[in-house]
Amino acid sequence: MQEPARAASVESVAIGAFRVGSVRVLVLGAGVVGVSSAWFLRAAGHDVVVVDRQPGPALETSFANGGQISASHAEPWANPGAPRRILGWLGRADAPLLFRPRAEWLQWLWVAAFLRECTVQRSAANIRSILTLALHSRGVVKRLRRQLQLEYDCEERGILHLYTDRREFEASLAPAALMRALGCNRRSLTPQQAIELEPALASVHDRIVGADFCAEDESGDAHLFTQQLAARCTDRGVQFLFGTTIDSLRVERGQARGVVVRDGDGSRRELPADALVVCLGVHSAPLLRPLGLRLLIYPGKGYSATFNVVAPERAPSVSLTDDEHKLVFSRLGRRLRVAGTAEIAGWSLDLNEVRCAALTRRTQELFPAACDYAQPTYWAGLRPVTPSNVPYLGATRVRGLFLNTGHGTLGWTLGPGNGELIAQVVSGRAPSVALPPGP
Ligand SMILES: Cc1cc2nc3c(=O)[nH]c(=O)nc-3n(C[C@H](O)[C@H](O)[C@H](O)COP(=O)(O)OP(=O)(O)OC[C@H]3O[C@@H](n4cnc5c(N)ncnc54)[C@H](O)[C@@H]3O)c2cc1C
Repeated sequence: MQEPARAASVESVAIGAFRVGSVRVLVLGAGVVGVSSAWFLRAAGHDVVVVDRQPGPALETSFANGGQISASHAEPWANPGAPRRILGWLGRADAPLLFRPRAEWLQWLWVAAFLRECTVQRSAANIRSILTLALHSRGVVKRLRRQLQLEYDCEERGILHLYTDRREFEASLAPAALMRALGCNRRSLTPQQAIELEPALASVHDRIVGADFCAEDESGDAHLFTQQLAARCTDRGVQFLFGTTIDSLRVERGQARGVVVRDGDGSRRELPADALVVCLGVHSAPLLRPLGLRLLIYPGKGYSATFNVVAPERAPSVSLTDDEHKLVFSRLGRRLRVAGTAEIAGWSLDLNEVRCAALTRRTQELFPAACDYAQPTYWAGLRPVTPSNVPYLGATRVRGLFLNTGHGTLGWTLGPGNGELIAQVVSGRAPSVALPPGP
């Protein structure tokens, strides 16, 4: 299989990057990753156009995610305990991570690569790469919020990780220690301390066997953030072409030249560019394949449910991760969002009733009477997951073609910071933190 060129070193980046002056950059995709990239590319002085098939920003996977900015969750799905867990969940319709085999070569290639990432060494290397990006991005989010006065139901109360299974808690200690050593302040709490921090958990006090807390992590609505950042981009001269579907990328003699798009009325036209930044989430791989760039990004379907809070003192305001059910809870103003679970099962966005009902049941069990559970808003999204959960970030062997995609479970956590990093790469500058060696 041919791999895309990696942007691991500043040398390799400089070959494909523009060192002087401003260039016309097309950002492909207006999710949280694309809009963040557009913001920083414009700040670097480029002429920026964002293209997206939807009528507005963040209407696909960035729409109703779990809301967590969680550097403390840098451990990827691919870890030493994953194969045992996934086998144990096989055949369970409400399994936190469900694998449904399909006649699709991409799925099988992806699963094989995923299994290779499950060793202790690979998992530690991936934690290191993801955490480096996440700590940088968390700082970028805080800076953007302050500078641009973005309001998106942000809570700066940290993230509390709860364990109800002793074996899972014990398995979390080594990765947590590694993250601490790498600069993530993830500290252990007793069950009593966890309840003191989030009194809304009182009803499940006796089931908690362990917890840890990262005070610097935060939460907020990724859709609102992206919408507001897109509006600030427009104010600064970024052009958005919504309702515009990208059909193909145009490359001549090893140099990116633009894209061919289809407008809402079906008419086709070409958009010329000096540089393309691919931020198409789970849809990135099919458009790059004709160029010989084979990205291993597969959909990791997840669900969320959003409830109106009716008894604020009973609903959590600290963002939570429920390890047993692989769910996260974030308070978004007067709403409570629960999200999680994963299906490696293809491209459908259909809502599975069993999985939706499991979200409501678990939320009600943890926070009885906190919300109006009779009127949930369910949503499903496709996480653009690489086998290692490390994104593709940087230059490719095609001059003027850059990748910022494959953010998997952590696109909201990593997107703003990776937007800044890709703008540095496109501008021929050294990125502020080391880019990952690729997924
Ligand atoms: C249930 C769930 C919970 C999650 N919880 C969290 C969380 O708590 N914290 C966290 O950090 N991350 C979380 N994530 C992950 C995060 O939401 C994603 O990683 C992130 O939204 C990906 O952003 P993106 O910009 O890469 O992709 P997207 O938001 O999907 O953006 C891609 C854009 O490309 C456009 N596009 C695609 N193809 C074309 C085409 N051919 N032509 C034109 N436009 C096109 C789409 O319209 C879309 O707007 C969660 C995901 C899910 C599903």
